[in-house]
Amino acid sequence: MIKEDCIFCRIANGEIPSAKVYEDDDVTAFLDLAPANRGHVLIVPKRHFSNALDFPCDLAPSVCLAVRKVAGALVSALNARGFNVFQNNGPAAGQTVFHIHWHVIPRFENDGLAMWPQGSYPSQEDMNELAEKIASAVK
Ligand code: AMP
Ligand code: ZN
Repeated sequence: MIKEDCIFCRIANGEIPSAKVYEDDDVTAFLDLAPANRGHVLIVPKRHFSNALDFPCDLAPSVCLAVRKVAGALVSALNARGFNVFQNNGPAAGQTVFHIHWHVIPRFENDGLAMWPQGSYPSQEDMNELAEKIASAVK
């Protein structure tokens, strides 16, 4: 399915240009135009799904393969010393384009990028209760 007003659908079907680095039947991958680091790539399924809750698991292997191929290329072509793979779901999580995509960000020693602060739980009991609450909601 393609959504007409979706920028990533339009990139995936070639209506809008992108700096493409990889493509197969299921996904396209191109440079993020506002990179966290030089070489920041977005892996985008060609069909429109808004986030991880409606993305079908049968497409997951194609995404996994694309992530591995692109990340390997960032390591070999840019001499990246590592990389981050992440994915935002919903505005509260920072999602701004509502067509699912994976960020692959090359990392370099002392590149100054920080992902998020680490918090803590008030007690082990609180942590266990929370784990139970989440576990009982898993379908
Ligand atoms: P997110 O905040 O996870 O939804 O990520 C959306 C990403 O898409 C941002 O990092 C934007 O910089 C990037 N982006 C938006 N429009 C384009 C575009 N036309 N070409 C490349 N990257 C884009
Ligand atoms: Zn779309």
